[in-house]
Amino acid sequence: MVVSYTHDVANAYQNALAQYDRAVRKMNLDENIAEYMRWPRREFTVNFPVRRDDGRIEMFTGYRVHHNTVLGPSKGGIRYSTAVTLDEVRALAMWMTWKCALVNLPYGGAKGGVIVEPKGMSQAELERLTRRYTSELIPLISPQMDIPAPDMGTGPQTMAWIMDTYSMTVGYSVPAIVTGKPINIGGSLGRNEATGRGVIICMIEALKRQGLANKPMKIAIQGFGNVGSNAALYAYELGFTVIAVSDVNGGIYNENGLDIPAVLQHYKTNRKLENFPGADNISNEELLVLPCDVLLPSAMENQITERNAGQVKAKMIVEGANGPTTTEADDILNERGVLIIPDILANAGGVIVSYFEWVQDIQSFFWDVEEVYRQLQRILVKAYDNTAAMAEKHKVDMRTAAQMTAIQRVADALNTRGFYP
Ligand code: NAD
Repeated sequence: MVVSYTHDVANAYQNALAQYDRAVRKMNLDENIAEYMRWPRREFTVNFPVRRDDGRIEMFTGYRVHHNTVLGPSKGGIRYSTAVTLDEVRALAMWMTWKCALVNLPYGGAKGGVIVEPKGMSQAELERLTRRYTSELIPLISPQMDIPAPDMGTGPQTMAWIMDTYSMTVGYSVPAIVTGKPINIGGSLGRNEATGRGVIICMIEALKRQGLANKPMKIAIQGFGNVGSNAALYAYELGFTVIAVSDVNGGIYNENGLDIPAVLQHYKTNRKLENFPGADNISNEELLVLPCDVLLPSAMENQITERNAGQVKAKMIVEGANGPTTTEADDILNERGVLIIPDILANAGGVIVSYFEWVQDIQSFFWDVEEVYRQLQRILVKAYDNTAAMAEKHKVDMRTAAQMTAIQRVADALNTRGFYP
């Protein structure tokens, strides 16, 4: 088969396909099923106008890809970034398929994106862009078909606009159309913190298995958005030493640990991490190779590559972001004995609590936060156990084991359903 690549070596879709092929080679899969699961089911591209505040009309391009819907409606975030490409959205949609299957949610995988720099727009412009993009997506989304959520550059307010636009179009309120909404319109308690919290839950599971659960740990975190900042705060609250954090403009470092609540306050006030009292300013490149025990790449894909994998000092990498490590870097790190807890496991906390939100919206019955955290912990630890058992059984790394577990679940369901017609 031929898949066209529109980008260079650091193409996330090539990475997703290479990971898939690597896992499939270790499995005993029917080749028709393996070929089917390699392809995105639907790909949607839309070019649409947005009125800027000065009256100009500007054209934007957006995507939504449904990768696989064998296990249920597709689920996946919407990203606003100038780096969005169709290949990136395809990769992220494919990873969502495996992530949902790995943690046993009744969902397929999807992803969306708009090529835009959200920080370069006013709130009113962002609202118009979101509402127009949503109205273009109407034939593709519904609580039974495809349920969007936040990703890089989007958040609860974006989800509120999507929910309102969809609801206005169909004529009644449909909270279950998106997850990651504000609490007062049907969002779930604990959703905002879920991904970062899940990253730390997975890190602790890994440390336990290495007999390091109660040892002091130095953690470096790339990305200080939803995932990175919540992971940093939860790790800090649990008594871990967070020595470095960064955002797109660079990071800060103190080998003795950062006071994360104070860093959050500094970031809120100054809108940058730079010049935090008592810390050194560092670049993202420096952060990734700092002396530390655990590295949490929690910003975006293709950050650990063959160029820097040899210099990573951490003994463990827990992937808060999707696709932060390329296949070439995986090989180098595996060779060096660095344990990688893969994205589809490590950052699955977000989609798990998104699933809880969808269930709560459909039932119109809302849980308290303790119940959300209890169920999140239960599902993630079980997925970790299953992945570790698969890795042990087949003598493969955790990424391959996670992919194998997920691919097998989708393959089994496809086998049961059969190929239509
Ligand atoms: P976000 O927009 O809230 O934060 C992204 C962070 O990364 C920001 O601090 C930003 O400054 C930084 N960043 C952006 N480009 C960068 C670059 N080139 N170098 C270094 N830092 C950069 O996004 P988020 O929701 O925290 O998502 C981060 C990652 O986690 C993405 O890969 C996303 O797909 C993944 N993820 C998010 C969720 C979720 O629930 N939000 C769930 C699963 C996975």
